[in-house]
Amino acid sequence: MTRETEIAGRGANLAASAASTTPSTSRHLSHLALFCERQDPEFSKIFEVVNALPLDDTHCHLVTDRDAITTPQRYLERISLAGMPFPNYFPVGVYDSWLTGDEATRHDLDKTYGIQAKVDEMTYHLSQSIFIKFLTKELAQFLDCEPTFEAVIEARNDRGQDYWSYVNSLFRDVNLENIMLDTGYHESCGRPAIEKFEEAILPCRTHRIARIEAIQHEFFGMDISFDEFEGLYSERLLEVMDGEGNFGKKSVGMKSYLLPLIGLIEPLYDRTLAAKSWEAMRKSYAVLPFMERQAAFNISKDLRRYTFTLALEECLRRDMPMQIHTGDGEAPDVILRNQDPFYLEEVVRFDKDNTMRMPKIIPLHAGYPSVGKAAWLSHLYPNCYFELSVMTPFVHQSLYERYKQVMEAVPLSKILFASDNYHVPELFWLAGRWGKRYLAKALTDHVVGGSLTFDEAIEAARMVLHKNNRAVYNLSDV
Ligand SMILES: [Zn+2]
Repeated sequence: MTRETEIAGRGANLAASAASTTPSTSRHLSHLALFCERQDPEFSKIFEVVNALPLDDTHCHLVTDRDAITTPQRYLERISLAGMPFPNYFPVGVYDSWLTGDEATRHDLDKTYGIQAKVDEMTYHLSQSIFIKFLTKELAQFLDCEPTFEAVIEARNDRGQDYWSYVNSLFRDVNLENIMLDTGYHESCGRPAIEKFEEAILPCRTHRIARIEAIQHEFFGMDISFDEFEGLYSERLLEVMDGEGNFGKKSVGMKSYLLPLIGLIEPLYDRTLAAKSWEAMRKSYAVLPFMERQAAFNISKDLRRYTFTLALEECLRRDMPMQIHTGDGEAPDVILRNQDPFYLEEVVRFDKDNTMRMPKIIPLHAGYPSVGKAAWLSHLYPNCYFELSVMTPFVHQSLYERYKQVMEAVPLSKILFASDNYHVPELFWLAGRWGKRYLAKALTDHVVGGSLTFDEAIEAARMVLHKNNRAVYNLSDV
């Protein structure tokens, strides 16, 4: 068997191999009963309370109806961090043409670029992750079907006939009350899709976060002077923060994606340097795609530092938090080595005129895999928070140990629950389900060990799961 046919064969057998085919006899038991029966009594007491608590998701993205009906392979691709930027493994436009093209087009593109074999390989390996095997069992319980990946996708497709009510039922099941939606990633679907999603998840409330790079994107390609650019950028920034510039609504926080592009972020106030960088960027457009990626980002580095600084000044003025993408990484687009949480120290300090101004900073994704560094930054600087997404839900059972690691350094008042949900709504649900379960398990250790009373443990869960989110964003309407 050649490597190609071996991989293709794996793809075809994907559904069968994604999970155990042994039917569970206990899937009709309630989630609570099923989980508690295996645990000690102290845990059961804590879990019962924690599992019922309201949930706020401090960082997440839009769900559209394009995944309402799916296939096992496509579902794996859409839920995978490796699969998310799949089009970027091929020349611009090739992957989308392959995905949506007729049979002849698909055949030709596949012959030239070997697309199917790459998709097969990626999804095969993902299907062999414990994350997917565990997800299969959990979703089988929720959908009341056999615990095989194929059966789960089939049952999900049934619910996909009325997709928005399915999405809503996932939200209700984990008691989501507020989400902070980063509108910077919306799969080019824009305002109608955002509004549709927000309506579908009611009574869960949505609060919007705007992304600096989305504002830059509007103006970076324009043939204008730096002065004109700065004027337009500043005007849009205020509209997004104070007006209705975030797809028809105001924002309660900002988000930056700068760290993966340049690494260490040092605030920049010097307009002259920013203007030089603007000119250099405009001159480089023709050669940028052919440059080594770090060198390409470095051309606009000062411009990006400057625009980031302008935005952070406005956040500080409004006591508005800035979320900053940290850890994680959407290979092959971003530069993994740049995403070290310690590269945020100068931003957390935000020194000017010999004074530390200390705006509210939320490093995202638990700094994963550098969880300890993100936790330590948050331990040292009172204005630096700690957000749990990506690690939640992707490390599944190990969340128990990770939450203990986070709580050993980060004050309980600064830990924020989040899912980073994108594409498929099950990430909201899994993050909520596993987040509550393993947080309860980690807190039980503290109660048993004597470091927290039962009441203190429950209050800790309330803070992590919703209270801290409402405090950091000054949400007065909840
Ligand atoms: Zn995100």
